[in-house]
Amino acid sequence: MNIWTDICVNLTNQRFASDQEAVIERAINNGVQRMLIVGTDITSSHAAIELCHRYPDHMRATVGCHPHDAKTMDEKAWQQLEDLLASPMVVAVGECGLDFNRNFSEPATQLEVFARQMALASDKDLPVFLHERDACIEMLSILSQYPKPKKVIHCFTGSEEQAQGYLELDCYIGVTGWVTDERRNQDLVSAIEIIPNERLLIETDAPYLLPKNIAPKPKSGRCEPCHLPYVSEKIAELRNTNHDVLVAVTTLNSIKLFNWPVAESLL
Ligand SMILES: [Zn+2]
Repeated sequence: MNIWTDICVNLTNQRFASDQEAVIERAINNGVQRMLIVGTDITSSHAAIELCHRYPDHMRATVGCHPHDAKTMDEKAWQQLEDLLASPMVVAVGECGLDFNRNFSEPATQLEVFARQMALASDKDLPVFLHERDACIEMLSILSQYPKPKKVIHCFTGSEEQAQGYLELDCYIGVTGWVTDERRNQDLVSAIEIIPNERLLIETDAPYLLPKNIAPKPKSGRCEPCHLPYVSEKIAELRNTNHDVLVAVTTLNSIKLFNWPVAESLL
């Protein structure tokens, strides 16, 4: 049986508050047995860890500060972040990175907060979970200064050239339902063929980015982790690969990258 691994679920998002358990059950029943619950600030990182303790066979967490929230990091927050990193449920630092598209925090603040998280990941020997929009050059430059941590660029939407830049730095690349959106997936579709099997990961980024190949479209418009097979099917089609093989390969990559073995209960 296939075991899917969704490497980006914002399960502590407000949009899951009223039916979180049902969402988790639907995912598990649909084969999406492993979910990485992503923290974007101190509060959501803390909540992600709590959730993992309720579903230890199915979930792990990331702990970090999203570039949008960079301005919220004071010394007290850094201390809390370090404390959270000590949890055995945490498998990566992030999501962290640069978002010069929206600049919800000043670019200078984003750069500083990102570099400090890269240094923390190096110290703690953890991988980094990266977010980047309109900041590829700056991101590649910072990543090259921190060779030690393993890296995954999540929700990659860029061009073949940008993918090449990340691959040269040994990054894993996460692909979301963006790949199903024919209005804006052209760059990603051309990049997707050059990602080697051993660097590919799949994700929903739920509740965002509902795959466009779902029919009929859910009334809520909300993406859930149970929708991950729509993402993997589309990628398999574009790469001309067997779907089952792609699912197995991406779960294997999640095991290696996050040092997160498949729980015996799932086998
Ligand atoms: Zn992101």
